[in-house]
Amino acid sequence: MTDREKTPSGALGRLAELPRARLFHAPTHLEFMPNLTAACGGKRALYVKRDDLTDMAFGGNKVRQLEFYLGEAQAQGADTVLITGAVQSNFARLTAAGARKLGMESHIQWEERVAKQDPRYRNSGNVLIERILGATLHSYPLGEDETGADRRLGEIAEELRQAGRKPYVIPLAPGHAPLGALGYVVAARELLQQITAAELAVDGIVVASGSGATHAGLLFGLRALGSSIPVTGICVRRDAAAQGPRITQRCAEIAELLQIKNRVAVEDVVVTDAFLAPGYGRASEEVLDAIRLAARTEALMLDPVYSGKTMAGFVSTARQAEGEGALIFIHTGGTPGIFAYEDDLTA
Ligand SMILES: *Cc1c(COP(=O)(O)O)cnc(C)c1O
Repeated sequence: MTDREKTPSGALGRLAELPRARLFHAPTHLEFMPNLTAACGGKRALYVKRDDLTDMAFGGNKVRQLEFYLGEAQAQGADTVLITGAVQSNFARLTAAGARKLGMESHIQWEERVAKQDPRYRNSGNVLIERILGATLHSYPLGEDETGADRRLGEIAEELRQAGRKPYVIPLAPGHAPLGALGYVVAARELLQQITAAELAVDGIVVASGSGATHAGLLFGLRALGSSIPVTGICVRRDAAAQGPRITQRCAEIAELLQIKNRVAVEDVVVTDAFLAPGYGRASEEVLDAIRLAARTEALMLDPVYSGKTMAGFVSTARQAEGEGALIFIHTGGTPGIFAYEDDLTA
């Protein structure tokens, strides 16, 4: 072991050297949920890590991820940030917000990933906030087509360059350095400090697993800092067979980026797609029940696309017979989405 690895900061390699914009006040709260604990049988103490409260424009996990993307954008002297995503993408909303906070413009490309024609889906929630923030909106007519959507975004960036702007594209497809995941390496360190300070015996963390930046970053950070707390990723976009290898791959990429050893073992990568149906951006009855349960026990607001599915997984874990220790739910935000999904939530 080198001297560097022995120090707590050294355990995370190059993390402190990479450009980072500060977009929220850490730490986010780690809150006990007494009513939900009781509603789930009372055997295990249930906590929520309030990453829905990351300050900016209704918050969410992307604020942590954007600290590294927008940090790099600033370091490169960018004046415009580009991102592509689903129509109700929280990442797009928070990119528009972060760009404004740092004095930049944003361009957002909408992909037709969710077959939903409800006018609220296309105008309310995240879309409304993007319009208020004055983001430039583009539409990409196809659905699941990561490569095509990225190519089109690259063309928009090129047009901006020709017009004398300095664009920065947030690259989300596999094969790019997972800068956003670093936000969750930081979160892992923050959470471990909170767990230690509160003297909690935690034996499970449940988190949404979409692009995998949150899941992989958190898992990687915990293991790098010597914690063996199990992390369960709830699939919100792809099935477990596709998501598991993606997380493993992301962890290897984080190790490369930070230039440290990857301490995530293959068996550390746990994902379940039991709450994914009927698919990305659509919620099952079980998920809607979990949303109502969290609201009616703890006044927690969850969305049908991400945090609601994750809560369904959390509740199911909490109700299982085995295990004694505390469980932590990572609230990744997404709350503006409830206004776009009014039809599902009031059906
Ligand atoms: C994007 C998002 C997720 C998934 O996070 P990834 O890092 O892409 O896996 C979960 N919850 C919310 C609210 C999100 O916006």
